[in-house]
Amino acid sequence: MALLNKRPHAVMLPFPAQGPINAMMQLAQILYARGFYITFVNTQYVQERISRSGSVESVKSPPDFRFETLPDGLPPEHGRTSKLAELSRSFTDNGPPYFDKLMDKLKHSQPDGVPPVTCIVSDGLVSFPQKIARKLGVPRVSFWTHSACGFSTYFFAPLLVEKGYIPLKDERCLTNGYMEQIIPSIPGLPHLRIKDLSFSLLRMNMLEFVKSEGQAALEADLILLNTFEDLDRPVIDALRDRLPPLYTIGPLGLLSESANDTISDISASMWTEETSCVKWLDCQDPSSVIYVSFGSITVMSREELLEIAWGLEASKQPFLWVIRPGLIDGQPDVLPTEFLERVKDRSFLVRWAPQMKVLSHPSVGGFLTHSGWNSTLESICAGVPMISRPFLAEQPTNGRFASEVWKIGVAMSEDVKREDVEDLVRRLMRGEEGQQMRKTVGELRDASIRAVREGGSSYTSMEKFVQEIKRGLD
Ligand code: UDP
Repeated sequence: MALLNKRPHAVMLPFPAQGPINAMMQLAQILYARGFYITFVNTQYVQERISRSGSVESVKSPPDFRFETLPDGLPPEHGRTSKLAELSRSFTDNGPPYFDKLMDKLKHSQPDGVPPVTCIVSDGLVSFPQKIARKLGVPRVSFWTHSACGFSTYFFAPLLVEKGYIPLKDERCLTNGYMEQIIPSIPGLPHLRIKDLSFSLLRMNMLEFVKSEGQAALEADLILLNTFEDLDRPVIDALRDRLPPLYTIGPLGLLSESANDTISDISASMWTEETSCVKWLDCQDPSSVIYVSFGSITVMSREELLEIAWGLEASKQPFLWVIRPGLIDGQPDVLPTEFLERVKDRSFLVRWAPQMKVLSHPSVGGFLTHSGWNSTLESICAGVPMISRPFLAEQPTNGRFASEVWKIGVAMSEDVKREDVEDLVRRLMRGEEGQQMRKTVGELRDASIRAVREGGSSYTSMEKFVQEIKRGLD
């Protein structure tokens, strides 16, 4: 029993969407490799999806890496991530009593070999465990699986409201040039335009939620960010001045590689990965393929899908395109036969790709992305420049950083036209501009590798964080 009590036990609660779950799983694997007992808490809906995808190996997970579930309060047929505001509200309203019950169960099951809970790690947008953490006398770790710049805009939302930039007064703001206005005053951020702010800040139905979760970071005992110092220093410094101890531990995808030998089989994908695309990539020329994917949540119009399709066709570049079920308003096979016929010798379509493998494949030379944070970071780690077409959450901020701050990408206008797609793909894959971006992103990739190596900033932060939690055992 004495020994049992010496083992740290992290309860980990991600926001119920694929990107945050992936990042939380990477962190869980790292902590497990460092001796933690893990309880990973998914919503029932997510866990069922993972099981159905066939890729989950939770059954194979060791007895000291366990899964638990909570209801999200929504009926099975609800669109969930396609209605993020409803999902966020419902999970925040319905999750807490079940989470409290789970913590109670864990407290009482210690004789069965479960060590006492040492910390609760929940997504930055899931702050409800704060109260129970206080009650149990354990730290709550607020893990922002978003970008540092995105988190920063959430944290400084009260300032943006006070200065009158948000909420948008009415729909006319979208068309009368208002969105182009520069915001001069968010600490640590370059001068963003209003249109670069997270859609969650611009829309009334999400503003209150992200604003209050941003402020809840002040109550956390520790804050973790999935980034590295050399990438985001000004943003991190401004946050560090105002928040509880903040550790930068990214890119977690790289840091978790060292942990993978232990529990490499534990995956948390809600879709089945089509690995056949890697064989196709093996047959393509180096840096010739543009990888196209809009993540796990984006829903786009059929019109836009067709503009992208014909733009890719006109670019003459080989491409690997993820068309996830649900990407186009629930219509699975909308690509015209004529298009498919024309691109059949230089394209590969999948419903879900092993993205990390794809991005790090030598044949991939560019990424047309929605600029979700995980995708952005994975692209940086692989040294692949991007074309950014953001759709929701903090994706516009990430896209702006990629093009204007890090200079590793080009931005696509929201009114997507095939000529622009063609032009941007050419510029990225074959132009001098693309070459320069490839060089710059390569330097950032090298910096990310240095950050996770022994003695690097993220490696050291992770060690400090682990020590901090283990200190609670004494
Ligand atoms: N992803 C994947 N295969 C795909 C598309 C996406 O494995 O075909 C993964 C990707 O590697 C990333 C996550 O799904 O880790 C998407 O997260 P991100 O933050 O980029 O976007 P979100 O899905 O949350 O909008």
